[in-house]
Amino acid sequence: MALRIGIAGAGVLGRLLAYTLSRAGHAVQVFDPASGPGPRADSGSLAAGWTAAGMLSPVAELERAGNEVFALGLRSCQLWPQIVQSLSQPVALHMQGSLLLAHRSDAGAAQRVVGLLQAKADAPYQPQPLSLPQLCELEPSISGPALAWLLPSEGQIHPIQTLQALAAQATAQGTQWHWGRTVTAVDVGVIGVGEVQHRFDHVFDVRGAGAKPALPVRGVRGEVFWLHAPGVPLHRPVRLLHPRHSIYMVPRPDDVIVIGASEIESEDRSPVSLRSTVELLSAAHSAMPALAEARVVHTETNLRPALPDNLPVIRHRAGTTEINGLFRHGWLIAPALVEQALHELKL
Ligand SMILES: Cc1cc2nc3c(=O)[nH]c(=O)nc-3n(C[C@H](O)[C@H](O)[C@H](O)COP(=O)(O)OP(=O)(O)OC[C@H]3O[C@@H](n4cnc5c(N)ncnc54)[C@H](O)[C@@H]3O)c2cc1C
Repeated sequence: MALRIGIAGAGVLGRLLAYTLSRAGHAVQVFDPASGPGPRADSGSLAAGWTAAGMLSPVAELERAGNEVFALGLRSCQLWPQIVQSLSQPVALHMQGSLLLAHRSDAGAAQRVVGLLQAKADAPYQPQPLSLPQLCELEPSISGPALAWLLPSEGQIHPIQTLQALAAQATAQGTQWHWGRTVTAVDVGVIGVGEVQHRFDHVFDVRGAGAKPALPVRGVRGEVFWLHAPGVPLHRPVRLLHPRHSIYMVPRPDDVIVIGASEIESEDRSPVSLRSTVELLSAAHSAMPALAEARVVHTETNLRPALPDNLPVIRHRAGTTEINGLFRHGWLIAPALVEQALHELKL
């Protein structure tokens, strides 16, 4: 039976829900304060999803996360190709593995992390040590680090393309978008926008860091840098394991490399700091000296939505479902979380 579904929030979760539920024939309406479906530069949207690097790293995230995120991540890595294939707009999705790198001087700290991943990940997903010639063959632009491991099951998705393509597809399937609408209350079957109450058969609260005070969610500040680096090819996401400044570098089309990300317990959305600039970019330069003449073309700050235990939650009440706490794994786990929530609801 086709239901009337309301969704508060048009971030990663909101758009995946809209796409999935409208595809299943439900009548979906989405509410978000952003001025439109485009990237935040155009719309002022606050979705963390726009800023994310889009790494799909179930194994590397095991350094800090547990089995739940690992399992959701592996499942999502199966689901993303199916989703991307069904979208009419193109989305760059690459599953060519990712690399862990370390300088020789940081070998102790790096071995500790790799040991942790080996202990937590099942055999087929474990880090595979690479010799320097093997590293050079995979990524000729990397010349600083002496230690490298391949995580073959990992990949990346283009967040901006995906958010836009999901919205376009959901629109084509009949979803109605209410842009410029800040939801002030989500209750049993009701989405409140100021004085106006919109009634539905079921509502989803996926407002990320904007779901306070309904959920004890906090925003965790993250800063990223976009470098334009023509002639410095990078084919897959890489992480530099470092005792103090762990960074990642993620290739995007048109010679762009995204460098990220700080993780600061603050809800400050102001521009990137000098400290993060120095720490992240010098670590990136140490791993890829060829980046010296790259141009910093864009910087961005956003807030990862996190619950007190840093774990995701799906909470059902009559007529209402809350999904939140995707923290630093939203792109990695959102498809599996949506699948699980809709399975629990029998939708
Ligand atoms: C710097 C950075 C790097 C990251 N890198 C990665 C990565 O490489 N891989 C990965 O898997 N994850 C990454 N993440 C995490 C990922 O982006 C988040 O986990 C994910 O975006 C969370 O999805 P969400 O839909 O819950 O929230 P969001 O994407 O934040 O969307 C929430 C939506 O709710 C809307 N909203 C807020 N308040 C209201 C309101 N009152 N009414 C209506 N709507 C409202 C917002 O406008 C927004 O559109 C990164 C995040 C950051 C900040």
